[in-house]
Amino acid sequence: MAEFNLTLNADQIELKDWVHEFAKDVMRPNAEEWDDREEFPWPIVQEAAKIGLYGIDFMMNAMSDPSGLTLPVAIEELFWGDAGLGMAIMGSGLAAAGISGNGTPEQVIEWVPQCYGTADDVKLGAFCVSEPDAGSDVSSLRTRAVYDEANDEWVLNGTKAWITNGGIADVHVVVAAVDPTLKGRGQASFIVPPGTKGLSQGQKYKKHGIKASHTAEVVLDDVRVPGRCLLGGKEKLDAKLARAREAGRTGEAQPAMKTFEATRPSVGAQALGIARGAYEIALEYAKERVAFGKPIIMNQAIAFKLANMATQIDAARLLIWRAAWLGRNGGFKNGEGSMSKYYASETAVRVTEEAIQILGGYGYTREYHVERMHRDAKIHTIFEGTSEIQQLVIARAISGLRIE
Ligand SMILES: Cc1cc2nc3c(=O)[nH]c(=O)nc-3n(C[C@H](O)[C@H](O)[C@H](O)COP(=O)(O)OP(=O)(O)OC[C@H]3O[C@@H](n4cnc5c(N)ncnc54)[C@H](O)[C@@H]3O)c2cc1C
Repeated sequence: MAEFNLTLNADQIELKDWVHEFAKDVMRPNAEEWDDREEFPWPIVQEAAKIGLYGIDFMMNAMSDPSGLTLPVAIEELFWGDAGLGMAIMGSGLAAAGISGNGTPEQVIEWVPQCYGTADDVKLGAFCVSEPDAGSDVSSLRTRAVYDEANDEWVLNGTKAWITNGGIADVHVVVAAVDPTLKGRGQASFIVPPGTKGLSQGQKYKKHGIKASHTAEVVLDDVRVPGRCLLGGKEKLDAKLARAREAGRTGEAQPAMKTFEATRPSVGAQALGIARGAYEIALEYAKERVAFGKPIIMNQAIAFKLANMATQIDAARLLIWRAAWLGRNGGFKNGEGSMSKYYASETAVRVTEEAIQILGGYGYTREYHVERMHRDAKIHTIFEGTSEIQQLVIARAISGLRIE
């Protein structure tokens, strides 16, 4: 077990500086353009792949760090650069986490690299859980997976909603109900390999923020995947279903929830990066902007806003680092993963709004980034578990009760 330590090691500091350079030199200058275009920023992701920032090696390196801190440190810098572009770079990570969390070692080796491709041939992954009628309520998925024993194939049918990289990804990881009567315990995750017939993109959503990230419906119409695409394998699924039937509703967590639990500190780190970016702009601006004959920071009303922003940002980072460390060293006990995502997300929304206030009219225009940061921050209180769902997870963890 690694010791919990707030001092980053030399490798982590080097990585942080390296990601920061990319965020400063490549992401920030291009952020407004891709926000306006609302298209997937292929050139930026390709550039990230060329320097080794997007790709399987980067993820493996970050994931193998025993302290757990490398990934949130890198993500904070990326999202400091820009959240829409950051999401385009990080989006495949959720599919990779879904495969790593539920697949056999052979499946991980086969499919995770295909979520990234190579520097010359970039690929994407998508993790498809949410549906038009099932977002927070993951147990109510309608997408069905039926086993065709004669051909050893699974047949998937349904519609997935709001999927990052949906339809443009090469590898789609789809969570579907095998036995809907068992709700979440009757679900399994499937790989839909590149080019599989029957999978198509539905509507592409126009969004409030993170516009450079592609979000779309994924339609599954009699999609047939080989038996080996069931993550974890058939034997394990059959045993799980049998246990769930015996135990009623008290079986183990559904696959999607396991993935979300593991990725929550990283999502918190995304929100943290946005918050820090907006805070730094606001601090500089407040020192320079003169009103009534003095810099506006000389008014307590402005200085205290900045003091609160700095405090909340540091508190968010401490929660994220603790959760990231716990995720790698013994697991969460009191909903620490959810605490970190919940607090960092709410902080990002508050801090970016205060940044606009401090910049006044300039803050409301596109000139200073903070209005975009405010729009980008909001998604973090919604995806990968809304703030209310995080509170529910924490409340259940601290009470041991099934609070509804
Ligand atoms: C840009 C974007 C990208 C996304 N990417 C992905 C992706 O890659 N893969 C994927 O699978 N999904 C993705 N999602 C979906 C996202 O995870 C869901 O939108 C989210 O989980 C919320 O579900 P919902 O929209 O159905 O809201 P609902 O579940 O309908 O919630 C609506 C409101 O009710 C509240 N609520 C619901 N239940 C409770 C309760 N029990 N107690 C208290 N309050 C409650 C919620 O907190 C929320 O405020 C993405 C969404 C967006 C917008």
